[in-house]
Amino acid sequence: MKTANQNVTATMLVNDALKKAEFFKDYNIFTSLYKDAALKKAAKIDERIKNGEPVGRLAGVPFAAKDNFLVKDTITTASAHILEPFEAPITSTVVEQLEKEGAILIGKVNLDAFAHGSSTENSYFGPTLNAYDKERVAGGSSGGSAVAVALDIVEFTTGSDTGGSIRQPASFNGVYGLKPTYGATSRYGVVSMASSLDVNGFFTKTPEDLDLLMSICAHRDEKDLTTLPDFYEESEAKPIKTVGIVKDFDNDAVDPEIRTALKAKCEELKKKGIDIVELDMPTLKYALAVYYIIQPAEVASNLSRYDGIRYGFRSENATNLDDLYGNTRNEGFMKENKRRIMIGNFVLSSGFYDAYFLKAAKARTLLIEEYKKAFEKCDVILAPVSPNPAFRLGEKVNDPVAMYMEDIMSVSINLAGIPGLAIPAGKTASGLPIGLQVLGPRRSDKTIIKFAEEIR
Ligand code: GLN
Repeated sequence: MKTANQNVTATMLVNDALKKAEFFKDYNIFTSLYKDAALKKAAKIDERIKNGEPVGRLAGVPFAAKDNFLVKDTITTASAHILEPFEAPITSTVVEQLEKEGAILIGKVNLDAFAHGSSTENSYFGPTLNAYDKERVAGGSSGGSAVAVALDIVEFTTGSDTGGSIRQPASFNGVYGLKPTYGATSRYGVVSMASSLDVNGFFTKTPEDLDLLMSICAHRDEKDLTTLPDFYEESEAKPIKTVGIVKDFDNDAVDPEIRTALKAKCEELKKKGIDIVELDMPTLKYALAVYYIIQPAEVASNLSRYDGIRYGFRSENATNLDDLYGNTRNEGFMKENKRRIMIGNFVLSSGFYDAYFLKAAKARTLLIEEYKKAFEKCDVILAPVSPNPAFRLGEKVNDPVAMYMEDIMSVSINLAGIPGLAIPAGKTASGLPIGLQVLGPRRSDKTIIKFAEEIR
């Protein structure tokens, strides 16, 4: 991470980032830019450096936050019409932790509205374009976060991952993307999607940067009681002797170039003396179905608060309270948001709760057990992130099932609460980035980050 010093000032770093943000405007990355505030903060840091006063570990490093992270007195949109205009009364813990170390927030970046999606096409502000091919999607939901790092606008960005939203866009744009262990980082001040799955993490160019960001942010937060007691800094990276490969992910539904990339990586590992074991994980094939029950159920509950009274947008077309609620939600939510609210309320409704939600919750427990057993046979797992590289804009957006299939190899990690790190693993013949994910048991975040360093 390039921090500010006597020669390269924070002001220079911030100006450079702002210039690049402007230069890459047509990628539709930023939902807001904090030019003046960022330059003011930079000047302060430069002053401290000049006076020889201590500065943090991220002094003057410009970064951007996914626009579901709240920053006090600024607009948070979650790329959703229904939040407009919503001025945040608080700052999210993660942004606070980063700023405390001297990092400078230059703006917020685009996502699928409320983080529902795998392409950033569900954004109210339109899609972000892929860093390698402007006719292709950025991935999602954290598309803006991935492209901002891939185009070198900023050195790192924040993201949230409920079912793949950090790893998949990272792999579509050739950068690193970490979804930490559930509860490793605070979610205070981040717009909730599905609370038993949501985790906040980062996009970077190197695993070393992820290590630094985790040291700063993976802490217990009294404002988010689902955070784990501090474990990251004290944890030791485990030496990797055995890597597991999931048999069930090696099938014709996965792009041949991705399968080849995985095999090539395995050959490299074998040469380093690492054993490769094949894992039978028969419950994994149910993960997508389980996810698309549990996640919408939690989404429906979390989105019930947007009623036109408390946040942002309110419909003009209402003469009574029921219409005010109904029309606000109808006009304010995107199609995909509504789909999830309907599915969620359906699977939670009396009569269907036992058949869907309860069954999915039980299957989730089986998945957790299956991962535990897998990690008795290997230290980490190496797998594809998604079945294909970045697809074309418009290709799947009108076919929800095709879009959901994108998540087939990423959602089980959230259901099990384990950490997953997307790493760049070469390119396709046509030049699109390929990503793989390194998975480890809960709280093995340091192990997978260090392993990513070793196998780069
Ligand atoms: N693509 C997944 C979904 O649409 C994951 C989204 C996310 O992780 N926020 O549910």
